[in-house]
Amino acid sequence: MIRKFTPAWKASSTPRPNIWADVPDEQWNDWRWQLSHRLNTLEELQQIINLTPEEVEGLSSEGKFRVEITPYFASLIDPDDPMCPVRQQIIPKGRELAAFTSMMEDSLAEDAHSPVPGLVHRYPDRVLMLVTTQCASYCRYCTRSRIVGDPSATFSKRDFEAQIAYVERTPQVRDVLLSGGDPLTLKPKLLDWVLGRLRQIPHVEIVRIGSRVPVFLPQRINDEFTEMMKKYHPLWINIHVNHPKEITPELAAACDRMADAGVPLGNQSVLLAGVNDSVHIQRQLVHELVMMRVRPYYLYQCDLVEGAGHFRTTVSKGIEIIEGLRGHTSGFAVPHYIIDAPGGGGKVPISPNYLLAQSPGHVVIRNFEGYITTYAEPLDYDPTAIRHLEAQVARRPEPGQEGLLTLLEGHQLSIKPEGFDAVHRRGRQREHRLSADAHKWQPYGVGEEEPVSEVEAS
Ligand SMILES: *Cc1c(COP(=O)(O)O)cnc(C)c1O
Repeated sequence: MIRKFTPAWKASSTPRPNIWADVPDEQWNDWRWQLSHRLNTLEELQQIINLTPEEVEGLSSEGKFRVEITPYFASLIDPDDPMCPVRQQIIPKGRELAAFTSMMEDSLAEDAHSPVPGLVHRYPDRVLMLVTTQCASYCRYCTRSRIVGDPSATFSKRDFEAQIAYVERTPQVRDVLLSGGDPLTLKPKLLDWVLGRLRQIPHVEIVRIGSRVPVFLPQRINDEFTEMMKKYHPLWINIHVNHPKEITPELAAACDRMADAGVPLGNQSVLLAGVNDSVHIQRQLVHELVMMRVRPYYLYQCDLVEGAGHFRTTVSKGIEIIEGLRGHTSGFAVPHYIIDAPGGGGKVPISPNYLLAQSPGHVVIRNFEGYITTYAEPLDYDPTAIRHLEAQVARRPEPGQEGLLTLLEGHQLSIKPEGFDAVHRRGRQREHRLSADAHKWQPYGVGEEEPVSEVEAS
């Protein structure tokens, strides 16, 4: 018998609030029943949660980001605790509507990186395919709230055709990431069709799905789904768990099924004030994830997106969390802490500093305990010896996205910020030569009559 992870400290299945006590298990465990019985109004939520005035305000406000909560996920909410981490992620608060400094609609500039509708090509070798705008439930801090949730703005099969055609004619794309919205809310036949089409493209090496359905709607991870996934390996899935309270027997069973189907599982979480901005909560989270065979992949700094202001933490909190994980626990349980750089800069890893000093011959490093030591570098290292083998590797970075590597490899002398050349020419057409005429080099703001240097004055 294969040993399976069951969160032993939790009930064997999540207890249901009274309003669903009479629902037959067969319906409760049917993902379509869960989707069609989602809660979305103040009145419905009041039946199972003692809402705070701020939540009532959030739920009553016009023009808010869509609210939908599956009965399963709603049953994880503590009805009497306004700080319940499950509750804060999906019940809007009045504060959600407050603007904050640096708030942006499309903070990751995804629209600018989109060659065809719904496809984002930001990185050299991989693309993000937004296959739907719909989710099983809606996270209040959603980075794509500008497009997600709108039932009238969904993608059609013609959009998919255009996205697939782009991947077909773009041979550097070796990794296609299905996202949205949540790809697992697509009609199963349609998802099967998209995956099948992508698999027929020879240069697509891996396909990934980013989904919160296993968390919101674990019932969706049924045999039909796992059988379908097996046809499209190598297929990777990233789920999205933010707090140990979301780890239930139902989620553990869904992860088991996916892992047994050969899918490597990762987790992407978002650092959220009042929900998981704690070293101790994060440590418990990553430990429970790895017991479900889910590897913590990314911990994201909360994006500068509308509605998410009250969830933001300082960056130092994220660095502190990594400080408390790296070295203190299994290396594969430590996620990368990421700021998705505003303005379309993409994902930037942020880490505590472990490198303290360098000299030719030595680097000085410190470990997670504060122990400081040196690593002696070889004095006769020849970095060119590998060139012969390197030449046999076919793939090179796409020009324009090599980054600092282009400087390190000596292909380029410098990288200039926009406007650099213009400002340094200062409008002059002809380069000056340094001459004895000191007045010419007088800095701005220094009077003509004043000597520029002590040497000249004497
Ligand atoms: C996050 C993201 C990816 C995938 O990034 P990885 O670091 O490879 O997981 C690809 N495209 C876009 C636009 C993304 O935002």
